[in-house]
Amino acid sequence: MLAHNAVSEVHIVFGPPNSLPRMKKDTLLTQLGRNPAQTHGTVNTPVYRTSTVVFPDMESYENRDPDDYKSMRYGIHGTPTTWAFEEAVAKMEGGCQAVALPSGLAAITVALAAFCKNGDHLLVTDSAYAPTRMFCERQLRPNGVEVEYYDPLIGAGIAKLLRPNTKAVFCEPPGSLTFEMQDIPAIAAAAHARSIPVLSDNTWGTPYFFRSFERGVDVSIHAATKYIVGHSDVMMGVVVTNEKYWLPVRHAAADYGFCVSPDDCYLALRGFRTIGVRMRQQMSNALEVARWLQRQPQVQRVLYPALEDDPGHALWKRDFEGAASLFGVVLRPATREKVKTFVNALQLFGIGSSWGGYESLVTAPQPEKVRSATQWNPGGPTIRLHIGLEDPADLIADLAQALPRLG
Ligand SMILES: *Cc1c(COP(=O)(O)O)cnc(C)c1O
Repeated sequence: MLAHNAVSEVHIVFGPPNSLPRMKKDTLLTQLGRNPAQTHGTVNTPVYRTSTVVFPDMESYENRDPDDYKSMRYGIHGTPTTWAFEEAVAKMEGGCQAVALPSGLAAITVALAAFCKNGDHLLVTDSAYAPTRMFCERQLRPNGVEVEYYDPLIGAGIAKLLRPNTKAVFCEPPGSLTFEMQDIPAIAAAAHARSIPVLSDNTWGTPYFFRSFERGVDVSIHAATKYIVGHSDVMMGVVVTNEKYWLPVRHAAADYGFCVSPDDCYLALRGFRTIGVRMRQQMSNALEVARWLQRQPQVQRVLYPALEDDPGHALWKRDFEGAASLFGVVLRPATREKVKTFVNALQLFGIGSSWGGYESLVTAPQPEKVRSATQWNPGGPTIRLHIGLEDPADLIADLAQALPRLG
């Protein structure tokens, strides 16, 4: 009897109250993925730690549905803690289902592996996150997948690159490091005309600021490590799919044996609850810093689609509900040594990978080194800033004291 109770108590049915079918997204953020009536009144879905799930009898054990990834079968397939997080992210973005993965990169590789086999052709934006390219080059290509990089600005022109064996188009709006906006609806229209799915790394847009499924994305990938977790303390990824592509993606995650710790999932959902207030504030801070930078003599260009004069601004405004606080800055010509001196002089910007936490960060990437289909030579070195929740006046003061180091 004890075993029977254990199973029935964890069949938590999530979802917002039916009486409020058209809640705004900030309300949804507080409602999704929880059901206190089924968790002894706790506000948050608790951490369910388990490997084994015990069943009341042989019949129910043998009737486990191998394609049902939202009920208790075995720890690797998730628990209510996982599903709470997955439901919140999927519904916020307007997708159907989601699967949590151990990192953003794992989310990318699972999504790509789900669609690309030996003999297939894959189109990847030339502005993709560098480790995405690495996976394509070191894993997919040697296994017989023909990977082709395309100009991120291609839009409807992608139609000309589609082949009979093209199995997926991979996008990333805006591009990692270089921040070119992509015309996702135009790319999706061309791909869908040939029944090809559109995969998109939407880490920058987040489920909160980019309703990717309404723009034609079929499989949306997030490094939850960034804004979803939001506090620089958990590695996690999540893939959200529409109904059609759920099982191929979920099967790939299962076949590779991926699962995430319930403690990490709990933290990720805890972070996600406040993504709205964090991102609105960080966007506001980022715009203030970006506009100030635009006026500095050491700055050639700020790469940020939220700025009115950015080449991607019109697409961003049409398709996004807000902007991440991550942007690039093209400096006036300066030696790498001077750039390093400038970055080292910053006090409030940590030097390090990742972004999306509450704290500001800086890196000095070299985007020209991770391109093949297009060129990147804007005429000066590029730095990347992540703007956190600090007072933007302090960030500006810090930049102001460091910029003269560029000479
Ligand atoms: C960081 C990042 C990833 C990878 O996420 P991890 O959790 O660090 O593996 C994927 N895509 C983009 C655009 C990223 O910035």
